[in-house]
Amino acid sequence: MIGERGVTLAGLVLVLFLAAPAAAQPRQTLSGRIEGARGHTWRWAFDVGLERDAVRVRVTVHPVPTAGVGRAELDRALARWEVEVERIWSGTWAVRVPGGRRYPVLLDLAFAARGEHHQVVVSRSGDRVDAVHWRLGDAPAVVAHEVGHMLGLYDEYRDGARAPGPFEPDPESVMAQGGGRGRVRARHFQRILSWFRQRTGLEAELVPLGEGGDVLAERVPPGRYDSSSGQRGEP
Ligand SMILES: [Zn+2]
Repeated sequence: MIGERGVTLAGLVLVLFLAAPAAAQPRQTLSGRIEGARGHTWRWAFDVGLERDAVRVRVTVHPVPTAGVGRAELDRALARWEVEVERIWSGTWAVRVPGGRRYPVLLDLAFAARGEHHQVVVSRSGDRVDAVHWRLGDAPAVVAHEVGHMLGLYDEYRDGARAPGPFEPDPESVMAQGGGRGRVRARHFQRILSWFRQRTGLEAELVPLGEGGDVLAERVPPGRYDSSSGQRGEP
């Protein structure tokens, strides 16, 4: 028979176990292909890792300007996209582990000339915009939508590259046409949640963070794209 003391000790161990942080998980590249989504096929890829205080998702894009796109205007567009796209995707949801500890999901969009997950052609005024064709004037929500495809997400509008099965319109979703109102939903992080559960073995779930972010949702500092060195000047 187990004594009162044993029960208390077991309880203490259980509490400590439940409150314990998830072990850090090194950054890993996840990738795959989506085939034949209403005639569309694309490759998705990104890095994900669990650091001490956050789930960090990194998408690295090599921008290839078309003739006539100047260095300075490209840099201005990249800087704007990076800040705004990270703002749209970061600090909206957290992964919560048993015991209540939350790890905000933070997205880092990095522009680099080497080691990229994706190449994107950037034109001044091309007639198409998709995951690999962007235009200098594209709004951040539009680019955030294309980054969503790089994370392995389908379109969420009637004529888009939709998932098979029934269709429920959600016009505010970042995956709606044109990026909607840039709203990120829990379903958009299912792949990341699955990775988290698999790596940590924890029954984690996604919980929303407050409107406009949360004290936990620190931002990723903006980097600087430097094609000559292939390095991204991130602190
Ligand atoms: Zn799309």
